[in-house]
Amino acid sequence: MSSAKVVVVGAGIVGVSAAIWLRRSGFEVTLLDRGAPGEGASYGNGCILASCSIIPVTGLGLIPNAPKYLLDPDFPLFLRWSYLPKLMPWLTRYLAHANAEDTARISKGLVPIVGDSLEQHQALSRGTRAEKWVRPSKYSFVYKDRAAFEKDSFAWDLRREAGFSPEIIEGHAVQDAEPILAKDMQFLARLDNHGFILNPGDYVKSLVTVLEDEGGAFVQALVKDFDLSGGEITAVETDQGRFECARAVLAAGVWSKQLTDKLGLNIPLEAERGYHIIFKSPSETPNNPMMLTAGKFVATAMDQGLRCAGVVEFGGLSEKKSPAPLALLRKKVKSVFPSLEADSEEEWLGFRPAPTDSLPLIGEIGSSGVYTAFGHHHIGLTGGPKSGRMVADLIADRPSNHDMSVYEPKRFM
Ligand SMILES: Cc1cc2nc3c(=O)[nH]c(=O)nc-3n(C[C@H](O)[C@H](O)[C@H](O)COP(=O)(O)OP(=O)(O)OC[C@H]3O[C@@H](n4cnc5c(N)ncnc54)[C@H](O)[C@@H]3O)c2cc1C
Repeated sequence: MSSAKVVVVGAGIVGVSAAIWLRRSGFEVTLLDRGAPGEGASYGNGCILASCSIIPVTGLGLIPNAPKYLLDPDFPLFLRWSYLPKLMPWLTRYLAHANAEDTARISKGLVPIVGDSLEQHQALSRGTRAEKWVRPSKYSFVYKDRAAFEKDSFAWDLRREAGFSPEIIEGHAVQDAEPILAKDMQFLARLDNHGFILNPGDYVKSLVTVLEDEGGAFVQALVKDFDLSGGEITAVETDQGRFECARAVLAAGVWSKQLTDKLGLNIPLEAERGYHIIFKSPSETPNNPMMLTAGKFVATAMDQGLRCAGVVEFGGLSEKKSPAPLALLRKKVKSVFPSLEADSEEEWLGFRPAPTDSLPLIGEIGSSGVYTAFGHHHIGLTGGPKSGRMVADLIADRPSNHDMSVYEPKRFM
């Protein structure tokens, strides 16, 4: 099997990671994308290798508070109301997970995907031209005060259980550690052994050249369907013709649903729309990537400037940016970084692939030879390399140390 042909669909961080680990396992690998690599969600994320990101958005308290959050113009949760009827079936299933038991279960499932992210990115890129993009760092959660931190105790208890115990910095020491922060930010919970990617889009492009250096191929082609006429995959069909293969990996992010629908799977996957603003040539930057908890956005000093990314908006895959989320993000940035100035600003909208239970789908669809590797919502940059490695292990028939049933692609049927 190790000399067999594998086609990987989607050149985001998940697909390219799978492609590289498959190639390193001896497979003949072709990676396909309808566009240039690294231009989906993997382009514009917050750059953070957030190993401690094991708490789903549903968390606790989303159900009682959802209506209030949606109506509060100061809360970073938005809905395009005309999209609500289409969203309802997904939303109902999503909100059903907003309880303590499911949050703890989801969190346990996310730990193997994100827990050793920095090491996974280093293993993927070590000794290659992509290595320079991976930066070790601390990761800080910024709170107004201790009371605000304590309100988050359910999440921090789960993080501690998973081995993430923060160093606490309080009072004026906060501004000594991070001079960019407003004076009324008086509490930092800072974690070691995290990291960030200096430019996620260029990193993915560079990983694609690593794949080519190592004997794999990248082809620009729009995938239309899988040929399963014999019950097992024999080819991937594209606008550039058929790509014969013995195995295929579907890693097309939020767009994976268009292809799994064709396979009759009907996976509850929605786009959680998110935004970034890059402050170019900024007058100041944080010393480490940070999560601004009150505004629910992250800020990272990356090679294009200071990138501030966040907001959850439901509204499907329309490429049109909504003004309100960007205005709120800008306002929140101003309140925590009051003296920040920039030469110019750049705005971006992207689509997080969100399954209702906030766990990625990693596994073979029945015995079709088609493997899923998508559904990484807020943690895809962090968990891409590990997910790619898991898929390569499955295809190479290597036993896993993890309970892979958690990620079963047919679990929604
Ligand atoms: C605002 C924002 C901030 C974020 N911040 C972080 C963060 O700090 N840390 C973190 O870990 N995660 C973060 N994320 C999440 C992360 O970006 C995603 O989970 C991750 O990029 C998903 O990667 P992917 O490879 O699955 O999908 P994508 O990067 O979207 O790649 C999918 C690829 O498939 C291709 N494709 C689609 N359909 C087809 C087809 N039919 N044929 C061929 N190709 C196709 C697309 O062109 C695309 O290149 C953030 C997301 C957003 C929106």
